[in-house]
Amino acid sequence: MTETPDTAAARLLHLRGQSLAKGDPISPPITMASMFHLPGTPDGSPFYGRATQPTWQATEHLLSHLENAPSLLFPSGMGAISAALFATLKAGDRLLVPSDGYYNTRRLGERFLARLGVEVVERPTRSFGAGGFEGFAVVFIETPSNPGLDLINLAETCAAIRAAGGLSVVDNTTMTPLGQRPLDLGADIVVASDTKAPGGHSDILMGHVSSRDATLMESVNSWRTVAGGIPGPMEAWLLHRSLETLHLRFAAMCATAEEIAPKLAAHPAVQSLRYPGLPGDPSHTLAKTQMVTNGFLIGLTLKDEETAEKLINTCPFLRPATSFGGIHSSAERRARWGDDTTGGFIRLSVGTEPADPLWQALDAALNAL
Ligand SMILES: *Cc1c(COP(=O)(O)O)cnc(C)c1O
Repeated sequence: MTETPDTAAARLLHLRGQSLAKGDPISPPITMASMFHLPGTPDGSPFYGRATQPTWQATEHLLSHLENAPSLLFPSGMGAISAALFATLKAGDRLLVPSDGYYNTRRLGERFLARLGVEVVERPTRSFGAGGFEGFAVVFIETPSNPGLDLINLAETCAAIRAAGGLSVVDNTTMTPLGQRPLDLGADIVVASDTKAPGGHSDILMGHVSSRDATLMESVNSWRTVAGGIPGPMEAWLLHRSLETLHLRFAAMCATAEEIAPKLAAHPAVQSLRYPGLPGDPSHTLAKTQMVTNGFLIGLTLKDEETAEKLINTCPFLRPATSFGGIHSSAERRARWGDDTTGGFIRLSVGTEPADPLWQALDAALNAL
């Protein structure tokens, strides 16, 4: 069977079932344990809860399936990003990061990696390739960028980074492995925040690192064990549960975004709108070549800060909240965190509300501005 996002989602639901014995639970048990029975010589079986954990392994099994690559679980997206960068960089290296991507990745570079002798260079997503990748040990890519929704050509960029002797790390949070497969497009490492759509219910933080390079994964695994930033079994189990419905939630969220984006764009109160699915969006052509869908994030610009706040706070089907990817539609002005956006720019995360009532509520709130 050729793997498509649909077959991957179907097989995911039966991965665990293939190896069950009579009487085993269909859902994986939550293993609460720091110590494991370990007589004699250690043989790779679980021995201590910081090194490995049966509940993580169940969740990593699903993530590895979705990424089609070995995957390691972390207690947050930043835990995953830190592990990928600390496991690959050393003093004297240069790291390239997007200047308009998720701000804590830059902050990790500025505040901590720079202090250890890593030179951190920033470039805007739109001109990310300008200047080439010569001399960078690691290039960190985010596409679509958060919150601007600009794209980077993954196949071209990852090939150029490799040719220049560097490693590519792609933050795939905004698309999830169902929407985009950077490893298939030549990336060395994928990192993601599973706090967003994979968790999807606004109740857990989680993240993962995936790579087909065994040496890199060994290093990331070793970082997790010695740094001690490990997920709890309860949260790992909740992510396992969420991943089983990711395809349904993700498909619904993307379909609704696709439907309401043009309606929002046509509304007189909306000054401009970014959505890769819209013909004419600067990301549209490239999105069709490397993304399975156009995602569930919409960037819209209203007149000013006050108007934007009013929309966010008066639409009954919008939670004014940071983060995205949950079943509840949510929105925020990214300028409040210092992102390089105008005061009236809103990042809208489309949830799983049926499209019609959601559009009716947004339209009414926009009309009342
Ligand atoms: C949220 C986010 C992160 C950080 O993830 P946490 O789970 O909050 O630590 C990293 N990258 C992107 C693109 C994000 O949106």
